[in-house]
Amino acid sequence: MQNPLMQKPETIRLFGAAGSASAYAIRDFLHRSLLPFEWIEVKSAGEIYTVHHLDCARHLQLPICMFADGTCLENPTLAEILDQIGWLIKPSQQMYDLAIYGGGPAGLSAAVYGASEGLKTVLIERYAVGGQAGSSSRIENYLGFPKGISGADLAEKAREQACKFGAEILMTKEGAGAEFIDDYGVGILTDGTRISARAAICATGVHYRRLGIEGEERLIGAGIYYGAGSSEATLCHGEEVIVVGGGNSAGQAAMHFARYACKVSIIIRGQGLKDTLSDYLLQRIATAPNVEVLTQTVIAGVEGDSTLREVRLKNLSTGEIRHVPTRWLFICIGGEPQTEWASSVGILRDEAGYILTGPDLDYEEHSAKWPLHRAPFYLETSVPGLFAAGDVRHGSVKRCASAVGEGAMAVAFVHKHLAQLSERPAA
Ligand SMILES: Cc1cc2nc3c(=O)[nH]c(=O)nc-3n(C[C@H](O)[C@H](O)[C@H](O)COP(=O)(O)OP(=O)(O)OC[C@H]3O[C@@H](n4cnc5c(N)ncnc54)[C@H](O)[C@@H]3O)c2cc1C
Repeated sequence: MQNPLMQKPETIRLFGAAGSASAYAIRDFLHRSLLPFEWIEVKSAGEIYTVHHLDCARHLQLPICMFADGTCLENPTLAEILDQIGWLIKPSQQMYDLAIYGGGPAGLSAAVYGASEGLKTVLIERYAVGGQAGSSSRIENYLGFPKGISGADLAEKAREQACKFGAEILMTKEGAGAEFIDDYGVGILTDGTRISARAAICATGVHYRRLGIEGEERLIGAGIYYGAGSSEATLCHGEEVIVVGGGNSAGQAAMHFARYACKVSIIIRGQGLKDTLSDYLLQRIATAPNVEVLTQTVIAGVEGDSTLREVRLKNLSTGEIRHVPTRWLFICIGGEPQTEWASSVGILRDEAGYILTGPDLDYEEHSAKWPLHRAPFYLETSVPGLFAAGDVRHGSVKRCASAVGEGAMAVAFVHKHLAQLSERPAA
């Protein structure tokens, strides 16, 4: 039987209203998963009948997903969409060799290496694969792609590669806790599913940081977006776009929007981009006629009821407030790890919540709690057999290539750990 995860559906038609947060959530997910879809903007479901002459959906609630076999899903969850296309799978094993949490570059790389090297491997991803990289319109410094590659494309190729080798990928599933029992661990997902594995890799990366201004939560997906928003760029045609942040992700996003928007303003608190941006992006921004950089500036507020209408910018040196009418605010100010679950089960983290591994664990200090005769492996956490890779790890480099490298390296340590488990005399 063919692996359903290797099959792509025919084009999905997504009908929804402009500025709808739930339509955005679906659009972004389909875009990141490289699932073929057509976005059709309508004001009401009735319009699907009057303008598009499709009867089946006219009494349903927007957004509506219409599939090639005629099935219409009304305001579907992402899991319902995955179910419809055959990508919502159940774990097949009582006990895996390797469970990976997070489907960004680090987790996907671990899945490819783990499955290709014969480990029974499962990957749990709470959203779509690709992680932060998945939101990038073009990654230009990843080895082997001289013309660059979109994050969604890179992630989808890796997903297919992992599935080809037999990795199980559970999307829209989120790890929430863990238990450690003798020689194996149990990951507990938010829906109550328990995943048992002899080794695990935490590759959960970082979660986008919020601005912390009034109205932000309400307007998420309805004018305010986190990350580079590559699914939205073509919809900004002829409009003004604001990008907050001075790192490479903000620079990349600004240059991508500049192809469609009439004007892109990059907002940064500091004096300039020189210290935070790669040289190639600095040069492109400096010569782009429709991109401006507003230094020493912050977002003072946002206006809008159901969708964003206006952004207020404050110049920190003059105190001047500027009102910018816009429907597009993209926030690329980095992220922070979400590892509270880890500390609740005794996994050591640094002050910012990043997971400590190998040499950073200060073996001398913690040896009393460490149950094995050997020191922790380089990417091993304070719990034997649980590894961390990529941006979630203390001291990580925060690059695609290094996350991919760590994912592969963690699998090498998983093999060593499993070999030692099998050498131990039975109790
Ligand atoms: C817009 C943008 C552009 C970038 N461009 C570049 C570039 O050009 N070159 C470069 O080298 N780097 C770039 N980076 C940085 C690079 O993308 C990151 O360093 C890399 O993605 C880190 O990979 P990761 O797998 O460690 O973590 P992430 O990419 O953060 O992935 C973590 C994954 O874990 C999932 N997850 C989190 N918690 C859970 C949970 N509890 N259960 C299940 N899943 C969970 C998340 O949904 C996510 O998919 C960019 C970053 C951004 C945001």
